[in-house]
Amino acid sequence: NLPVVAVVGRPNVGKSTLVNRILGRREAVVEDVPGVTRDRVFYEAEWAGKDFWLVDTGGWEEKVDGIAYRVAEQAEVAVELADVVMFVVDANVGITTTDEQLLKVLRRSQRPIVLVANKVDDQRGELEAAALWNLGLGEPFPVSALHGRGSGDLLDAVLAVL
Ligand code: GDP
Ligand code: MG
Repeated sequence: NLPVVAVVGRPNVGKSTLVNRILGRREAVVEDVPGVTRDRVFYEAEWAGKDFWLVDTGGWEEKVDGIAYRVAEQAEVAVELADVVMFVVDANVGITTTDEQLLKVLRRSQRPIVLVANKVDDQRGELEAAALWNLGLGEPFPVSALHGRGSGDLLDAVLAVL
């Protein structure tokens, strides 16, 4: 009965990369193409002496209903179990329709949300990340899951909610 941290976001924003970054090992499957199926989604993680479950959502496949629907459905399941949700967006792309749909699901769940502005690989990206204050989710945390930039501050913020 460790606390559960769910990593939620549309395909390709870097959720699995972030999970691997937090785990400190490559366990979650990272793919350049969205829609990768994977069996394991729960990972035991630790930060600053605190243990928690990290849930990598995904594993959806594109169905006739369209990927946005599948993402929302996956998110609903993950969020139900979560004590806190890391909502991951691609800071370079900005907010898409799918992001907005997901956000609706997240808000409805009334779980605490920590906004992750991923793919901020260098300082230039910070401006795009700052634009995400507009979502009304509080401080956007700029990170580069790929390089590790900002991930410590993000984890501190997530654990502060638990
Ligand atoms: P997921 O579908 O949300 O799980 O996304 P993945 O973790 O599979 O990553 C999708 C693609 O984005 C991969 O090619 C990653 O290498 C890339 N990616 C993930 N995080 C970053 C990042 O911080 N910076 C950059 N430049 N690319 C990233
Ligand atoms: Mg993934």
